Amino acid sequence: MEKKEYDAVILGGGLAGLMAANYVADAGFKVAVVSKVFPTRSHSAAAEGGIAAYINGNSDPNDDPEFMSYDEVKGGDYLVDQNAAELLSDKSGEIVRILDTWGAPFNRQPDGRIALRYFGGQTYPRTRFVADKTGMALLHTLFEHASGFSNIDFYSEYYVLDIVKDGNNVNGLVAMEMKNMDPIYLKSRALLIASGGLGMVYKHSTNSYISTGDGYGIALRSGVPLKDPEFVQFHPTCLYPSDILISEAARAEGAILKNNKNERFMAKYAPHKFDLAPRDIVSRSMTMEMMEGRGFEGGYLSLDLTHLGREYIMERLTLAYDAAKTFAGVDAAEEMIPVRPAQHYFMGGIDVDITGTNSDLNGLFAAGEAACVSVHGANRLGSNSLLETLVYGRETGKTMVDFLKKHKNVESSDGTEEIANNAYLYIKKETGEHFGTLLDELKETMWNNVGIFRDENKLGDAVKGLQNLRERAKNMYVTDKTTNYNTEVFNAFETRNMIDVSLAIATAALNRTETRGAHFRNDYPVRNDDNWMKHTLAYLKPDNTIEIKYKSVIVTKWKPEPRVY
Ligand SMILES: Cc1cc2nc3c(=O)[nH]c(=O)nc-3n(C[C@H](O)[C@H](O)[C@H](O)COP(=O)(O)OP(=O)(O)OC[C@H]3O[C@@H](n4cnc5c(N)ncnc54)[C@H](O)[C@@H]3O)c2cc1C
Repeated sequence: MEKKEYDAVILGGGLAGLMAANYVADAGFKVAVVSKVFPTRSHSAAAEGGIAAYINGNSDPNDDPEFMSYDEVKGGDYLVDQNAAELLSDKSGEIVRILDTWGAPFNRQPDGRIALRYFGGQTYPRTRFVADKTGMALLHTLFEHASGFSNIDFYSEYYVLDIVKDGNNVNGLVAMEMKNMDPIYLKSRALLIASGGLGMVYKHSTNSYISTGDGYGIALRSGVPLKDPEFVQFHPTCLYPSDILISEAARAEGAILKNNKNERFMAKYAPHKFDLAPRDIVSRSMTMEMMEGRGFEGGYLSLDLTHLGREYIMERLTLAYDAAKTFAGVDAAEEMIPVRPAQHYFMGGIDVDITGTNSDLNGLFAAGEAACVSVHGANRLGSNSLLETLVYGRETGKTMVDFLKKHKNVESSDGTEEIANNAYLYIKKETGEHFGTLLDELKETMWNNVGIFRDENKLGDAVKGLQNLRERAKNMYVTDKTTNYNTEVFNAFETRNMIDVSLAIATAALNRTETRGAHFRNDYPVRNDDNWMKHTLAYLKPDNTIEIKYKSVIVTKWKPEPRVY
């Protein structure tokens, strides 16, 4: 097998991976960035509404970083590590300025300062944006910056199979060049997982087809736990029936949710914040409206932009307008957009602290949606994820630089051949389970049993069903036997990762007998701080089960209070 040696290998070419790559490369270390798609096609490019930031001299005069941290803590229903939230807010202005300097074309106010708008759960408006294509603009800016380093090698269209370990030390990873299926061992003493989210485990999701939770599966199989996997975000406004996201920017600019009686129903559920309550609350309220018969046939509600005027919509919400026009045949300046909630974001992730370090494997770091630093707790506020990818991408980059300065290389490369050989098993097998069948069952199970409203029966069934899928997945095979861009093989690997992470989500959700943020239990409908103000740590065990441990929530300033909007 081909082998190449680096100081740091970064799994993922989205915002988090590229931000870290810039910092590690800037310190003179040799970096590999591995991505299963060309980096600028990462899901970060799909982010629309914006990035939250308190910028000194460029924010509401009453706002300050402490308000911002408080909003995050309350938005996350007090499961947030408060030191992590404070760091996020404190560094937010600086990071947006850096991206501005590197060329990101932020919308401006008439006086030239960076424009801002309200997003859900914010006390003051803080969301900075590039129309409704913010992620695309930021990702291109970062990629361009990273491309200027001669010490970063990009492995685009390489699929990462697994981590290589030497005892408790990370020793790089094995990937496969997708074009010809040749394996490659990328050896390194520091490894960053920045592989993004997992929307594809749900039947309805706003995520790209590449968001298959590979990094979570890889981490779980290496003995690394996921923190708080039971917390999955459902975004309220996804286009019916395609589930394409209609950004929260639409409601931030004044769009209103309505039921089949033309009522602004959010007034009932969130009398102060209305349509701009946090996403968990809006998604639940929408589902209740539909369950009580006030939805439209097929299962959707309406998002009304018509009062904003065509000119304003075309200036600020072009993507939402185009999506509604192209995929639902609706002219949003004149008609209401059909929307329903769908999976959007994973609050859980690889357990790391505020330096991006995982304490289970020496040399392993994680950042972005793949990580759980715990800034979002039980529910993420809109426009805080882009911010997290950049702030914690950079913090983790700095930590990796310190680590590389201190640690010598580890020599062994045990296990690399085995990882690569496994890759061909799916091709060699002539019969068995096809990934497509397993995936359909997985998506149904997760949507029906581990969705917006949960209970013991549904979750218990989900755990059993997923354990069964995991057994069956050992017998996966693919019908395409070629070694030329065999996408079926990669889909099979993705399915394996999706099953592993889904089992962690369902088991943790069954275990948490309370309601908090996005985790709503019909059978335990209230938050229980006495027993549950703690993080879940979920470990995958060889006997096909998930072992649960706990970790304290870090509280600095804010004691839990009732969460009212
Ligand atoms: C439609 C949509 C709109 C959004 N809008 C906003 C918004 O307005 N504001 C906000 O704050 N957040 C928003 N979010 C959330 C936010 O965009 C994401 O959480 C964030 O961009 C994730 O960035 P990342 O760098 O962690 O991962 P990603 O950008 O998802 O990148 C993951 C990388 O990992 C690579 N990868 C994964 N698995 C493998 C493998 N096995 N082998 C090789 N490479 C692999 C991929 O190729 C990719 O390069 C939105 C999300 C969606 C889906």
